[in-house]
Amino acid sequence: MPVAGARWVCLDVGETLIDETRVWSTWADELGIPRLTFMAALGAVIGSGDAYHRGVFGVFGIEDWRMSEAAVLERYGGFREDDLYPDARRAIASVEARGYRVAIAANQPEVRAEELRSLGIAPDVLAMSDAIGVAKPDPAFFARVLELMGGPDPADVAYVGDRIDNDVLPAAAAGMRAVWLRRGPWGVIQLPDPDSPPALTVRSLDELVERIDEAWH
Ligand SMILES: [Mg+2]
Repeated sequence: MPVAGARWVCLDVGETLIDETRVWSTWADELGIPRLTFMAALGAVIGSGDAYHRGVFGVFGIEDWRMSEAAVLERYGGFREDDLYPDARRAIASVEARGYRVAIAANQPEVRAEELRSLGIAPDVLAMSDAIGVAKPDPAFFARVLELMGGPDPADVAYVGDRIDNDVLPAAAAGMRAVWLRRGPWGVIQLPDPDSPPALTVRSLDELVERIDEAWH
């Protein structure tokens, strides 16, 4: 069995480990918008290149969406077993078995770290933006995550995420091997930047496990 030594696999959460269909459905329901209409509008906002996905509320003329946030989060209730993509758990176990260290670093509320742990997701490092005080795509986010990982050479870290703007480009700028996971709305709608292409593109975490070594080719 190959041993990866000092190499790390650092995973995003939304649409990488967690299927966010339920949280976006909760938003649609809370706002009284049919789910298909709401999600189509989200796709249009992503396709327009709007980096700030909350622009979706603007499509419906909703300026005070924050007023609904507490109700949505209560209704959502946090991560559950069935929110995990089916390949998430086995991919983490597989890359660990191959000698990689595993981190999870994402733009998420602090409480999501504990929810992941309670689902049995226990990587070496678990860093949520709200807990560390800085979010992707800020370069400081990636610098802080590297610190939490004990300061590995960024070139020994594969960062795996579904978004070009928040994951691939800033991870590559931080010196990491950027792996683009083409699933979720951003993963299927966004296009890579020819000036900074991903080191590896995959369509599932099962494919990631098969091909992770290629991120360093
Ligand atoms: Mg994501």
